[in-house]
Amino acid sequence: MEAAKSRFLTAEQLDALAPSVGRTPFFAYSREGLTSSADSALSFPNAYGLTVRYAMKASPTLSILKLFRSKGIKIDASSVFEVERALRAGYDYSDISLSTQELSSEFIPYVEKGLKLNCCSLNQLRSFGSAFKGTGKKCGIRINPGVGSGGFSSSTTGFSKTNVGGPTSSFGIWVGSFTDGSIQNIVEEYGIKVERIHTHIGSGSDPEVWKSVAKKSLEFAEYFDSVETLNLGGGYKVGRNEGEESTDLAECGGTVKNAFEEFKEKTGRSIKLEIEPGTFLTANNGALVSRVQDIVETDDYKFYKLDSGMTDVLRPSLYGAIHPCTILPTSEEGRGTEEVVIVGHCCESGDLMTPLPGDPEALGKREVTKAQVGDYCVIDGSGAYCSGMSCKNYNSFPEAAEVMVWEGGGEVIRKRQSVEQIWENEL
Ligand SMILES: *Cc1c(COP(=O)(O)O)cnc(C)c1O
Repeated sequence: MEAAKSRFLTAEQLDALAPSVGRTPFFAYSREGLTSSADSALSFPNAYGLTVRYAMKASPTLSILKLFRSKGIKIDASSVFEVERALRAGYDYSDISLSTQELSSEFIPYVEKGLKLNCCSLNQLRSFGSAFKGTGKKCGIRINPGVGSGGFSSSTTGFSKTNVGGPTSSFGIWVGSFTDGSIQNIVEEYGIKVERIHTHIGSGSDPEVWKSVAKKSLEFAEYFDSVETLNLGGGYKVGRNEGEESTDLAECGGTVKNAFEEFKEKTGRSIKLEIEPGTFLTANNGALVSRVQDIVETDDYKFYKLDSGMTDVLRPSLYGAIHPCTILPTSEEGRGTEEVVIVGHCCESGDLMTPLPGDPEALGKREVTKAQVGDYCVIDGSGAYCSGMSCKNYNSFPEAAEVMVWEGGGEVIRKRQSVEQIWENEL
């Protein structure tokens, strides 16, 4: 068997980073990887103009935002607090589009300064309307077009924790509010304008599905002559594990471009395209670097316990996500492999790094290089929805550090949280 290798890290590289980073766990991001994913997104085919927005909730660390900003990528924010973080990274209000599940009244001064709001419910549209009544102020609307994709869904309810469209999803204004005229009525009543249509349903990697999503979304633009832009959201599938397919943006974009051209032929309108990838830009460009800190056995299983877990990478516990786990031995001696279950450091049976594929409630055995206590275990595919979506401070484990790495070097971009910072707001 070949020496174990993670996607972009080696044991030597990690040893070299140790003096500046301190102890594991920490997140490592590949600067080359982030840059090249940004380039692919920016070359998405389009007929009448393209804006790429980074869905910053995927990984909102300052250095990552700055890197994407330097590439000309704009921002999709999901809360007013994310807006604050984007501003801190040097973005202007006008670079930011906000689509949020909770619209607090803070949005008004932001919109006055140029922030683009996508109203995600009828109540949000009314709030925008009453704030800017009779001014012809422009907003976007997020539509739930009635279909969605993403993750395994319950066979009885059709619900999936990673699905963002269809009748089981609370995101966006239900398609029926177009057909029954509710949206049009609010827009008229308040004297506002709809300039952007937004859908985010997770289009997967099939070019035909992309085309039909684009066509369906363009139909909503027909309701309002004022619509100039269609935002197709994110949800571009990335293969984290061997044998999993990643979205070919050039191929999918080609079919989307056709749909925009056909719309122009039919209506005479040139609609601009926006895309909002989060996962695509970051997922495979980040890894959690951890160590095996204990090894225990029962009659049925051998467990490797990491010095990280749901406090850093929650996705396996939350929705059964499968991440590659690679042991990088600290000493080279013929190790061979074994089948183990990898668990985190929390007092919580659900703190599981290797759920069974397709059954988030069951333990999955993985064949990995035989580990000794102290070996690195790299959890790849952790650049999106990990550092930013962890079960932070459970069991009072401090938040992990983050480093940016490149060919031949690296630097800390977020320090490890100190134990005092965990309780600093307590009185
Ligand atoms: C989360 C989100 C995205 C990004 O989704 P990915 O699956 O990470 O690409 C894009 N747009 C909106 C509105 C989102 O909420």
